[in-house]
Amino acid sequence: MSDTTPCIRCGKSRIIAKSWTEKISNSVITYTQTVCPDEECQKIVDSDLQKKKDKITAIQNKSLERRKAIKRVKKVKK
Ligand SMILES: [Zn+2]
Repeated sequence: MSDTTPCIRCGKSRIIAKSWTEKISNSVITYTQTVCPDEECQKIVDSDLQKKKDKITAIQNKSLERRKAIKRVKKVKK
């Protein structure tokens, strides 16, 4: 059984960086964290992931701001 997936950037087989088990209810779940064997590549993958997360957060913040802005406009008009 192989639970490693190829790197999304370079296609190299990812290596297990960390593996741990957690007991949830009556079952033990094994978690593995895989990284690219190429350290530089992994850094880029990580920063890409971070960028995506930042983008989602930015979009969420923007829609929040927009909602606030609408409220503000209503208040000004009244
Ligand atoms: Zn890679």
